[in-house]
Amino acid sequence: MPEIENCIFCKIVKGSIPAEKVLETEKILVFKDISSKAPVHLLAIPKEHVADLKGISILGKDLFEAIAKVSEVAGINSTGFRVVMNQGQDAGQEIEHIHFHILGGRKLLWPPG
Ligand code: 5GP
Ligand code: ZN
Repeated sequence: MPEIENCIFCKIVKGSIPAEKVLETEKILVFKDISSKAPVHLLAIPKEHVADLKGISILGKDLFEAIAKVSEVAGINSTGFRVVMNQGQDAGQEIEHIHFHILGGRKLLWPPG
């Protein structure tokens, strides 16, 4: 599995940084965000280091299947949830390993600001 040195999410995949895992498949990992912005705040990532949407290709399907699954596991499927991807500076992206935020468990403001 290609990994990038100093990438926090690659380290979580490898297990050298702990995370509260919610779902793991061959290609995808979903874990709790360390600084949750909602009662449920999960991050879905490809295990392989993909920097942005251009590299996501077929993994997109696996990611969205995992998101659908964890929304059930986390009990937010019926009440609703939001999936967010921050790309680049204007969106406030901090970690350059592609990730989708899954937020739920409360009424979410729109637009997010
Ligand atoms: P971004 O701003 O790049 O879209 O989001 C990065 C997210 O990763 C943030 O919500 C932040 O709280 C989360 N995060 C940063 N470092 C860690 C970590 O070491 N563990 C976990 N579980 N989440 C992290
Ligand atoms: Zn990475």
